[in-house]
Amino acid sequence: MDIEFLGGAREIGRSAVLVDDSLLLDFGMLTDNPPQFPVETPTPDAVVVSHGHLDHVGTVPALLSGEARPPIHWTPPTYELTLTLARDTLKLHGGSYHCPFTETDRKRVTQVSNTHGYREPFDAAGYEVTFYNAGHIPGSAHVLVDDGETRLLYTGDFHTDDQRLVSGTTGRPDADAVICESTYADVDHEDRSVVEKRFAESVKTTLWEGGTVVVPAFAIGRTQEMMLICEEYDIPCYVDGMGKQVTEMLRQYPEFVRDADAFRRAKSHARFVTGRNGQRKRITEQKAAIITTSGMLSGGPAMTYIPEIRSNPMNKITMTGYQVDGTPGRDLLETGSAEIDGRVMPVSARVEQYDFSAHADRDGLVELLSSYEDAAVLVNHGDRCEQFASELRADGFDATAPQVGSVHRV
Ligand SMILES: [Zn+2]
Repeated sequence: MDIEFLGGAREIGRSAVLVDDSLLLDFGMLTDNPPQFPVETPTPDAVVVSHGHLDHVGTVPALLSGEARPPIHWTPPTYELTLTLARDTLKLHGGSYHCPFTETDRKRVTQVSNTHGYREPFDAAGYEVTFYNAGHIPGSAHVLVDDGETRLLYTGDFHTDDQRLVSGTTGRPDADAVICESTYADVDHEDRSVVEKRFAESVKTTLWEGGTVVVPAFAIGRTQEMMLICEEYDIPCYVDGMGKQVTEMLRQYPEFVRDADAFRRAKSHARFVTGRNGQRKRITEQKAAIITTSGMLSGGPAMTYIPEIRSNPMNKITMTGYQVDGTPGRDLLETGSAEIDGRVMPVSARVEQYDFSAHADRDGLVELLSSYEDAAVLVNHGDRCEQFASELRADGFDATAPQVGSVHRV
């Protein structure tokens, strides 16, 4: 089996792995200005997608811009999320750079889509492929590829611990080679229940004091996780941004969330913001939590909320995850001010950060890999892939960190 990395190696974003020039695993986009795409647009016989985040599916419609119509295999939520993200990409960036696909290409995705559940083997380009729950977001999958001789496990993004929205990954199918993400290879997550309690207490304190809390969150996964936490701790909350649409969609696939009843309760507990008639300005005085995109304050309705609440020190902004260098969210944490909609604004509201990561930390990565001590391990999807690979080698693994453009035989 020859494995070529077209993106997502020694970097995070634009994940794309081509097996034997025939089977493509993921085809993502690296969010940057301008965005980056996989180094090549291949013509595979079939495509398999691990999960519905932009860095794994963002460039998928471009595979249909020529004559080729390869079947695309994924779980139902991944399929839906891909269409949503592609629509958003066309809308957001259509003018400012060359988007590698059109609305026509996006529509073609519906014609080649093949959806599958977990642990239901299917054929793709002559390989037997099986999805296993990866515990990252609803519909996220580890992808097992079997050509009859060699079994390759592509982990995609995964979490080994339970989140409220999805259970942690437990499937450990036999494999001869593993392509393993390494986003948090140098991080130890604090226990999730401890983080949750601290978050809930902080938010409640602010609400008791008469303040408002803005909770910036990614639309896919994080928004729903924060909704579940708000319901559990009885925190009044509004939800705004693309996370609303994603929540509605996920309600149709209860089998892909950990606790469908809890999810239903969280949905009815939260109030969805329509944005009509100055509603956004009004609810900033409601003494509630406002869960809104974008997670790093680089767009979305957060651009309306932050200017409204920023000058009152009684208010609070709680970041819910890692903030990439150079984003307004990171600037806010480091300097107390951020560029919002083109204007640098000092923020007197209190700013806090919580780690609600949906990725395995170092212990989680090692725990998963402990089932693959005899396999070849290819470390990707991280900022320090080479270091992690060399640490794994020191522990006796056959581990390497491929580069973008390199081909590895396993
Ligand atoms: Zn992801």
